[in-house]
Amino acid sequence: MLLQSRYVLPVSGPVIEDGAVLVRDGEIVDVGPRAELVQRYPDEAVRDFGQAALMPGFVDLHTHLEYAVFRGMVDDAPYSQWKLQVMQKESLLDEEDWAVSADLGATEAVRSGITTIADITDTGVSLRSASAVGLRGVVYREVSTMDRSQVDAVIAAALDDVERWQAAASGRLAVGLAPHSPYSCHPKLFEAVAEAARERALPVAMHLAGSKDEHDFVKYGSSLLGQDYREASGWSSIGWLPTGVSPVRYVYQWGILEVPRMLAVHCVHLDDGDVEILAKTGVSVAYCPRCNLKLGMGIAPLQELVEAGVLVGIGTDSPASNSTMDFFDEMRIGLLVQRGLAGEAKFYPAERFVRMATLDGARALGIDRLVGSLEPGKRADIVAVDLSRSHQVPTRDPYGAVVHTANQDDVLMTMIDGQVVFDRSSVETEAFADLAARAERVQAKLRSSNER
Ligand SMILES: [Zn+2]
Repeated sequence: MLLQSRYVLPVSGPVIEDGAVLVRDGEIVDVGPRAELVQRYPDEAVRDFGQAALMPGFVDLHTHLEYAVFRGMVDDAPYSQWKLQVMQKESLLDEEDWAVSADLGATEAVRSGITTIADITDTGVSLRSASAVGLRGVVYREVSTMDRSQVDAVIAAALDDVERWQAAASGRLAVGLAPHSPYSCHPKLFEAVAEAARERALPVAMHLAGSKDEHDFVKYGSSLLGQDYREASGWSSIGWLPTGVSPVRYVYQWGILEVPRMLAVHCVHLDDGDVEILAKTGVSVAYCPRCNLKLGMGIAPLQELVEAGVLVGIGTDSPASNSTMDFFDEMRIGLLVQRGLAGEAKFYPAERFVRMATLDGARALGIDRLVGSLEPGKRADIVAVDLSRSHQVPTRDPYGAVVHTANQDDVLMTMIDGQVVFDRSSVETEAFADLAARAERVQAKLRSSNER
């Protein structure tokens, strides 16, 4: 199949105007000017997207697909209160509810042009939903306990799940471990995760240095996370002393950051020296600008991270916190706040953010050999983005158009491994209406608990 469009953005090379991409057997075979490819492959079936951009699918470095039905439940609360309110509602859902939620999350992902996810899950339902829609990526089994006596049992149960999930996962999905955060894991749990990850070559992800409350809890022993959260988690009788150090430095001493393929999510509240620790340990960072802004967590110091050589990609986090998985919004807002912070001295071009959203994300997950750019030999994870609509024309620079004018409704097609997993021209409205109705019923359960 020869895919054609006004622009092709290989990301690893210059924009091709009037370009084409040849896909065969799930692989990208050729990329170049349309006229040349048509001449070279005269008998190939053609799909022309017109005034559009063909580009690599987005690599979403932080998702929780199973939280999709929490969309809009807690829209106006700062991080710690948001976390507590979401936690209180989680127990209302049964396995089937979680599955509906993850199906909605996976559906939204491919409709937003996301082809690779890095998903943290408690239940494992996201593995099934991601497999069903054909997503690529890593699904991390979350672990947490502040109770030292529980660490062995927690890690054993997690490794059991990891084995089962590995057996059930599609060839596109790997399984990893995710110690939840510095405020919810005992140091021994970090050590146990690090050991298991090395022994079994598992990737690891963790929320790190997200909110000011987390920072203050770790460093000074205080904050809402120090009381209400620990009480809600059943850990109020377990002692906690101020550590005097930042969350990054705190977890660093437990050996978790040196694990190969370590992904740190958020990294907003960094003290002096933290960026150097992240750089020297080779940790990759998931920048989640909209979630961080919406929950009042702050703004990650992207410039310092990048200048220190830390690999940074972009994550949408969950619809519970961020409302949508629109990857265009994520790039745009992530870019705009950084431009606002840096002023004219350091100015991020749109192209830089498209690279973070694709190739850098793939590098962070260690799969850039396979995906992240449009190059012969890579797997065909490709999206077509409409650039023909009234809010987009006329176009000049396609990178600028993608970042500053497009949104998830402009995705025309999402392809993973050469399979079309979303096609706007033949979208099944009935199937989606059914999923939306089921998600609505699950959320009604959550809402009814408010009224009690
Ligand atoms: Zn998260």
